[in-house]
Amino acid sequence: MRIIMLGAPGVGKGTISSELTKLYNIPQISTGDILRSEVSKGSEIGKKAESFMKGGGLVPDDIIMECVESRLSEDDCTNGFILDGFPRTIAQAELLKTLLHRKSLSLNAIINLEAPEDLIMRRLTSRRTCSNPSCQAIFNIYTKPPKRDGVCDFCESPLVQREDEKEEVIMHRLRVYKENTLPLIEYYKNEPIFFSIPCIDPKETVDGIRRRLDS
Ligand code: ADP
Ligand code: ZN
Repeated sequence: MRIIMLGAPGVGKGTISSELTKLYNIPQISTGDILRSEVSKGSEIGKKAESFMKGGGLVPDDIIMECVESRLSEDDCTNGFILDGFPRTIAQAELLKTLLHRKSLSLNAIINLEAPEDLIMRRLTSRRTCSNPSCQAIFNIYTKPPKRDGVCDFCESPLVQREDEKEEVIMHRLRVYKENTLPLIEYYKNEPIFFSIPCIDPKETVDGIRRRLDS
């Protein structure tokens, strides 16, 4: 099963993708996670990507394609994969098309997750991450609060708001999404494997996707 997961930041791409990972036994490939790990390793890619990420802008396509291509050639992708947070621009979608063609792979689904903007804002500003780099547990002040305010349940390190989850940066990320990524819906919407689905309650969303994919 090869899937592209689309949707605004905070819509729940990560949550839904990780559920589908278990159901279909395929890895979730998040370009955001790959980049964050490169940044924390201090690799060449990480150094190049860091400044773009801090401000909530997009990392250049050549860096992204390098990450995606090398990740797709790993063994665990033989069963398929879920692309989460990629492609993010029409240019990336074109480059992905070429890459898949070259590897003789076709996609099974292009899923667009939808949620109202106020819900998205609330979700994005309520996330808190453990500041211990080897833990990085994620909490949510409304839906998954830590046992003690501001302290990680697992390692007792302070919880912080990710630099790119501060309110101004989020506003900017949503603008970048509207300008660069929303046009992807137009780009894909006539493909028979494309569909949109609401993402308010994650369980309902996963059930809806399953019905669609298993039919
Ligand atoms: P989000 O919560 O917005 O989905 P991600 O964790 O996917 O955020 O990505 C974090 C940051 O990494 C983005 O703000 C962007 O700077 C960079 N990034 C991730 N994926 C891409 C991509 N496909 N193209 C360009 N930049 C990307
Ligand atoms: Zn922790």
